[in-house]
Amino acid sequence: MIGKDILEKFKEIVGRENIFLSKEALKAYSYDGTTSWIKEPDVVLFPTMNRQIASVIKIANSAKIPVTPRGAGTGLSGGSVPIRGGIVLCTTRMNTILNVDTENMTVSVEPGVTLQDLNLRLAEDGFFFPPDPQSMLSATLGGMIAENAGGPACLKYGVTKQYVLGIEVVLPTGDIIHLGSKTLNNVVGYDLLHLFIGSEGTLGVITQAELKIIRVPPARNTIVAVFNDSKAAGETVFRILENGVIPGKIELIDNWVINKFEDMMQIGLPRDAGAALLIESDGWPEAVLQEIGKIAEIAARYGAREVRVAKDVNEANKYWMGRKAGFAAVFGAAKTVLAEDVTVPRGKIPELAEKCKELGRRYNVEIVVLGHAGDGNLHPAILTDITNNEHYDRAVRAMDEIFETALRLGGVISGEHGIGLEKAKFFTKYVDPVAVDIMKRLKMLIDPNNIVNPGKIWD
Ligand SMILES: Cc1cc2nc3c(=O)[nH]c(=O)nc-3n(C[C@H](O)[C@H](O)[C@H](O)COP(=O)(O)OP(=O)(O)OC[C@H]3O[C@@H](n4cnc5c(N)ncnc54)[C@H](O)[C@@H]3O)c2cc1C
Repeated sequence: MIGKDILEKFKEIVGRENIFLSKEALKAYSYDGTTSWIKEPDVVLFPTMNRQIASVIKIANSAKIPVTPRGAGTGLSGGSVPIRGGIVLCTTRMNTILNVDTENMTVSVEPGVTLQDLNLRLAEDGFFFPPDPQSMLSATLGGMIAENAGGPACLKYGVTKQYVLGIEVVLPTGDIIHLGSKTLNNVVGYDLLHLFIGSEGTLGVITQAELKIIRVPPARNTIVAVFNDSKAAGETVFRILENGVIPGKIELIDNWVINKFEDMMQIGLPRDAGAALLIESDGWPEAVLQEIGKIAEIAARYGAREVRVAKDVNEANKYWMGRKAGFAAVFGAAKTVLAEDVTVPRGKIPELAEKCKELGRRYNVEIVVLGHAGDGNLHPAILTDITNNEHYDRAVRAMDEIFETALRLGGVISGEHGIGLEKAKFFTKYVDPVAVDIMKRLKMLIDPNNIVNPGKIWD
């Protein structure tokens, strides 16, 4: 519990309108995009400037109150769940796009700017910010940087860290530091910037960022390749790349998602198909035309039973809306959803996809498989119910085997959602103990009182 005197100080710092204490508010900020983690904070603060965050954190540090940074709370690893109570420090009211510099192709943002708002603003000048978590309507840039978020477009364009040039951070001591710069190259001492990117809000609060942006490609088109099984679809992914074509996006959806897709959009995908690839080519019009032809040819060669090229933008948009909605539908399909984001070298996708299906049969649980196949990043999701011990136990054992398989295939336990709470128990099991020790010591150095997002990444 936070004392009344401290809460009064917080009110003075952020303003009465930017502090939530009601039962409903504490409940609303007790969870994120996961379905198994929940913990209410003692207070939710909505600072509007970096100085306020620094003042709050100084008090929290001396009183040893946990502070959990939070953007939109769409994270899929429990990162913004205040597992030790204390303060949820939500940045959504720091949502100004400070500067768009088209000459240098950079933009300065506050951390609470949503990806959607940024891209709408950039579109006015013909630019965009490529990393595209499918939660773009509400995901914030602060949350994306803290998770090093990816998305479908990262196959061709790279993940968030490739677009962050500089950040301002309030450290757990309350000091404000600036890392990186506005330049593309920067080799000045240790690369602390990239230590903070992907650190899941455990090293400080990002209060501003300088990001790289790029021109919207003049043309794009979408192709859908339908397969009898995930294995053939998986093989087609790396065959396309091996043949020198780098599409903007390659997404894999399995039979479960195809059927959800059809329930929602009635687009005419065959309900008995084992899997489909949604592929987008973008670039100069002539190049897109050639790429689409080549992709269709390769997909047919490696077993596609049907290849469709979108007739127009409307049809293409329907496929991509369906992809987005398909993943969201997974979370509504069961009381508890174990949704992971294991990543393997691309050549191993067929094996991983097959293994997921085999485990589903063996443990008698529904395992949905979809994901950013072009990156080797799959999202096997197990539909279960944490209140049904027997079912949940089977689901957890199946997921353990998925992790084991990914690692055996040379992969990692997270490609974009981070470790947070969800994968903390696997982290120490699968990461080199010396590396874990270095990470723990870095955390202790930067956050000696362990107040910023405690309990995350490792137990
Ligand atoms: C339907 C759906 C689809 C998704 N698709 C993708 C996808 O394709 N790719 C992908 O990568 N992710 C995806 N996600 C996960 C999630 O949306 C991303 O991780 C996103 O970047 C989180 O942003 P957020 O603002 O919601 O952050 P939150 O969930 O609020 O926070 C995430 C983490 O960042 C920390 N954090 C937040 N703001 C700050 C800050 N200012 N400073 C320091 N730390 C901070 C938090 O403490 C937490 O650890 C998806 C989620 C959903 C629900």
